Amino acid sequence: KQKPLHTLLAVSLIGAGILAAPQAHASKEKPSIGFSIDDLRVERWTRDRDYFKAAAEAKGATVSVQSADANEQKQIQQIENLISRKVDVIVIVPFNAKTLTTVVAEAKRAGIKVISYDRLILNADVDAYISFDNDKVGQMQAQGVVNAAPKGNYFLLGGAPTDNNAKILRQGQMKVLKPLVDKGDIKIVGQQWTNEWLASNAQSIIENALTANRNNIQGIVASNDGTAGGAIAALNGQKLAGKVAVSGQDADLAAIKRIKAGTQTMTVYKPIKTIATDAANLAVEMAKGGTPTFTSKMNNGKKDVDTILLEPTALTKQNVDLVVKDGFYTQAQVGP
Ligand code: BGC
Repeated sequence: KQKPLHTLLAVSLIGAGILAAPQAHASKEKPSIGFSIDDLRVERWTRDRDYFKAAAEAKGATVSVQSADANEQKQIQQIENLISRKVDVIVIVPFNAKTLTTVVAEAKRAGIKVISYDRLILNADVDAYISFDNDKVGQMQAQGVVNAAPKGNYFLLGGAPTDNNAKILRQGQMKVLKPLVDKGDIKIVGQQWTNEWLASNAQSIIENALTANRNNIQGIVASNDGTAGGAIAALNGQKLAGKVAVSGQDADLAAIKRIKAGTQTMTVYKPIKTIATDAANLAVEMAKGGTPTFTSKMNNGKKDVDTILLEPTALTKQNVDLVVKDGFYTQAQVGP
């Protein structure tokens, strides 16, 4: 009953991390997928989870979902747990882009494919990245604010410093703003990152910015709807809501309502069903050992990662009803 020597040797080399494990369940009919999400307390991610599960299960896969609740250590432990359960693929929305190098290497040694979802994991051997075109999202945000407030003082309210998207969004925003700053139309009076993308953090940042600038701010380039909500609460405190242009992202229901009410200028609609379904199909294909098609490559500091970037859409009061036409919300949810 003893295992042949070469098997024992291979097993110990794999254990020592010297040899890559054979693809544990390649071409399996019922792949198992782990989905490690930064923070399910944030509205959009619950939708990603639901659509992803539905699409993967329709293809015969089983999905196990974990929420790290914006906790770096918790996310690492959850991924380690998925590795020990020998899933075929792990799909990750990283909380901190820079702290998953080791755990991704562990997954790869165990023969597990790793997909970076929405946010790019940096300095790690990930197999694929799927997201919306975040540079374009940033351009849309800045352009939306510029359309409503072509001149004046601007505050740049960035996303979480741990999120690579926050930086790409800022790059996109600056492509639009830099020429206008150079021309003298726009003056950037302040900029700050918002820890954990929290609305409450965004609110205090904008309260302080309003005080420091004696309320003389015409545009706030907010990087998502949660932080836009915080900024608008701060504006409200000064009776300025609706008078200052504010951008957003995600088409959160609250943001759609603010756009209709005129307190938020725009949001960026990213059909979650599309990214979640495409990612689920990608995960299943990779689990089965297939060769998926990618549209581009993105460097993450370690390698050029095979990438799929989807198209975002800018929404203002004029076209906000698209979210109903597209089935993202019902008319009853959005209101009259
Ligand atoms: C996502 C946004 C989201 C934000 C906060 C970003 O990485 O691209 O859609 O609003 O994280 O969760």
